[in-house]
Amino acid sequence: MKCVTCGKENEDNAKYCVDCGAALVEASIFDADDPIVQEKPYNPKEVYAKPAMILGIVSLSFGIICCLGPISMVISILCGILAIIFSILSLKTDKRKNAVVGLVCGIIGLVLGILFTIAFIVINSPEFLSYLEQNYPEIWQAYQDAMQGV
Ligand SMILES: [Zn+2]
Repeated sequence: MKCVTCGKENEDNAKYCVDCGAALVEASIFDADDPIVQEKPYNPKEVYAKPAMILGIVSLSFGIICCLGPISMVISILCGILAIIFSILSLKTDKRKNAVVGLVCGIIGLVLGILFTIAFIVINSPEFLSYLEQNYPEIWQAYQDAMQGV
């Protein structure tokens, strides 16, 4: 048996190298053919893939139900931004599928959240209401009725 440390030829049943004292049996465990050694290296960025997907789905869900109020708009925008960041971080790992789902859902959720927020601000502004009253009195009246109904 040849010592992997110093190259000295030892007896086959020897446990330690007579020349340098390295363990001969242990050394053979870390052989190049060992499946553990050949396993793909763990990519630490993989941990972002699952949160990215979950945040993306949350963002999209709250983006769709944004009409419920400002809190859902904030949630969809914040989760959308985080989902996009986490997706980009984990896009080049083995968890690519989760990252892509997170990215797509996150972008849609973010866009919906921003659009609903803009619409919410516009609809609630006095300028918009007076503009509506002057130019589209029927719509304005319908809007007033709808608001009273709520
Ligand atoms: Zn040796």
